[in-house]
Amino acid sequence: MKILVLNAGSSSLKYQLFDMDNGNVLSKGACERIGAGGTITHKRPNAEPFYEELDLANHSKALARVLELLCSAEYGVISSIDEIGAVGHRVVHGGKMLESCIVTESVIKYLETIVPLNPLHGPPAIAGIKSCLELMPSVPQVTVFDTSFYSSIEDFRYIYPIPYEFYENDKIRRYGFHGTSHRFVSYELAKVMGKPIEDLKIITCHLGNGSSVTAVEGGKAIDTSMGFTPQEGIVMGTRSGSIDPTIVTYLIKSKGYTAEEVDNILNKKSGLLGITGLSNDCRNVTEAAENGNARAELAIKMLVNSIKKYIGSYIAEMNGVDAIVFTAGIGENQWNIREKVCENMSYLGIEIDADKNKNFERGVPFEISAEGAKVRTWIIPTDEEYMIAIDTERLAKK
Ligand code: AMP
Repeated sequence: MKILVLNAGSSSLKYQLFDMDNGNVLSKGACERIGAGGTITHKRPNAEPFYEELDLANHSKALARVLELLCSAEYGVISSIDEIGAVGHRVVHGGKMLESCIVTESVIKYLETIVPLNPLHGPPAIAGIKSCLELMPSVPQVTVFDTSFYSSIEDFRYIYPIPYEFYENDKIRRYGFHGTSHRFVSYELAKVMGKPIEDLKIITCHLGNGSSVTAVEGGKAIDTSMGFTPQEGIVMGTRSGSIDPTIVTYLIKSKGYTAEEVDNILNKKSGLLGITGLSNDCRNVTEAAENGNARAELAIKMLVNSIKKYIGSYIAEMNGVDAIVFTAGIGENQWNIREKVCENMSYLGIEIDADKNKNFERGVPFEISAEGAKVRTWIIPTDEEYMIAIDTERLAKK
């Protein structure tokens, strides 16, 4: 079966077409600047990428052009959209949705009610789903939620210690994010370790521009660093991660910032960018630190320390850990961050082989544990789109 996976952002639409019979990616690409001009980069294996600038007024126009390209004689990989067996949509926030599901009217209606919980990603995801229903009405649509991996977290870990009515009336609780990635790498890890996932305690570190750490016991998430929004937790590219909440009210009450300005500062001007004043990109921050930039050195120390704190607390919560996984842009590529995170952790059984960590093989699961280490440490490339395609095929076949 061929599965199209869509990931709609506020002004973008990323896509991948999978042939699930062999797991191959037939084509992938991205529409960008939707609503303010428009560009498409469309790729196929062993062919030059096709790029065009065109007017993409909305997500529906973008999807229509993507379908044309996928089926075109010159740049296509299928002869008609009838070859697409189902479409899988990445939805960041699923609210109370506990599992991936086939799209129905009531699913769309529910997603519309939780837009206030997810104002950035909710509307484009809904627009993407509606465009597919309009352009491919007979093809099953599946929604896969980043939050649903966290439906196994227990109440004492997801309820915040604020008046209980905020949880009951306003749905304020930990939801957790990046769940599709944490789920994918935990199952991949069990496969490469040759162990049933039910027997494993794992800590997965998804470290990218947005970052989160998750404790996975027996294949189920038991705790995670992101919370009510993807703002909580470790230091990120432009997001602060966890801070004393009174900083927010202090900035508003004593410094005259509006709530919107504080939101913008904490989401877009903090983290690595805020500390260094240079960049949100961990490669640039690493380079600056190597060249002696004191604030870049500080930012790296803060990032590393925030990750260590979660690893330590999740080992305490699970009473041990069998494996640590590093994934996403920083986790998969930056040996310096992995080295510093795993430094001085031998008391907890975490020891890595410096040479393997530095000279790791890219793009494949790769173990970097030191010989005889009690805890095994791995780099596992994440593939959220493939995970979405797996769920989509399973549900479409039902
Ligand atoms: P992501 O959000 O997963 O795309 O990760 C982006 C982060 O990964 C940025 O901070 C990058 O600096 C960092 N990174 C480091 N090396 C690479 C690489 N080779 N490719 C992509 N991202 C990288």
